Amino acid sequence: MLTSRLVAERALELGFDLIGFAPAGQTPGAERFLNWLRAGYAGEMVYLERSADKRVDPRLVLPGARSIVLVGVSYDTLSPPAELLTDPARGRIARYAWGADYHDILIPRLRRLGEFVALESRAYVDTGPVIERAWAEQCGLGFIGKNTCLIHRTRGSYFFLGAILSPVEIIEERDFQADNALPGVRPTPDLRSRKAKCGCGACSRCLTACPTNAFPQPFVLDARRCISYLTIELKGSIPLELRPQMGNWIFGCDVCQEVCPYVRQYARPTRQPAFYPLEEWRMAPLLLDVLRWDRATFHARFKGTAVLRAKRRGLLRNACVAAGNWGSPQALPALRALLDDEEPLVREHAAWAIARISAPQSTF
Ligand code: SF4
Repeated sequence: MLTSRLVAERALELGFDLIGFAPAGQTPGAERFLNWLRAGYAGEMVYLERSADKRVDPRLVLPGARSIVLVGVSYDTLSPPAELLTDPARGRIARYAWGADYHDILIPRLRRLGEFVALESRAYVDTGPVIERAWAEQCGLGFIGKNTCLIHRTRGSYFFLGAILSPVEIIEERDFQADNALPGVRPTPDLRSRKAKCGCGACSRCLTACPTNAFPQPFVLDARRCISYLTIELKGSIPLELRPQMGNWIFGCDVCQEVCPYVRQYARPTRQPAFYPLEEWRMAPLLLDVLRWDRATFHARFKGTAVLRAKRRGLLRNACVAAGNWGSPQALPALRALLDDEEPLVREHAAWAIARISAPQSTF
């Protein structure tokens, strides 16, 4: 008999911070997800549409699935010097990408936990057709805030989430919650009161702080306007009207989490050394450096990190936008050199940045 306590103890050994359990079934909030897709808010993330049926029912991913285990690992590290993050001459990188690529760290551990549960289990860290956030809420790991992030009431939202689909039933131990003294592990929620209550109340800080107004309404993210989407998922040209609003973010964005009171009050450093930045520049490299990186340099700089996902052309595209927003003539020589870049995408954004620096009023 496999119990929630046994799985939680194994999860703790493997370095996970949060854990919760739920019987497999239709994904909670499935209709909301489908409406979101229909509204076109997913932009170019067509893989979401392609796998929508599986996302709304994990039993289509693993036929015979009986239980779902959700785990979370904090990636909160340190609070960097404010001057580093507010320096417009630097390009900001989202916190989750400062250290090692979370896939490399978490997937092997999640697989080991999955094998512990049952050999036939499937394990995903945003790598499969599972809506982790919805299941995390269902499993009692927190509530989904107006910024659409999973928020733990006493740990904030800087978490990687992983999901295990398992063909075995996991027995919830009634006394587990009371007995659970394992540091950092979220007590298993009571199955009878599983529904998480949103803790946002009247707060709307994330909605008003979003630089690109990516929230058409609370709990709804228009990914097409989200800086994370624009700097990572979007492969082509960044819409002209959004570029000036993107500030100096060059890979992802943390704004809607940084302003959240739950993050400000409760976030605490991760136990995982791998998620700490090896050097300070990894949080916000100098734009003048980034603009000069060739493909080999880009790969050498970001080997083993999630930033590689943007590819050189994506990161330089983003750095051009940030340089245009910086507005300093110091960037002009590097930007002019990029007018001959092998990538048309980079050339176009370099030209935009040059125009913005030279005549700021003429660009959006
Ligand atoms: Fe909710 Fe406020 Fe946090 Fe937004 S900033 S997720 S509204 S608590």
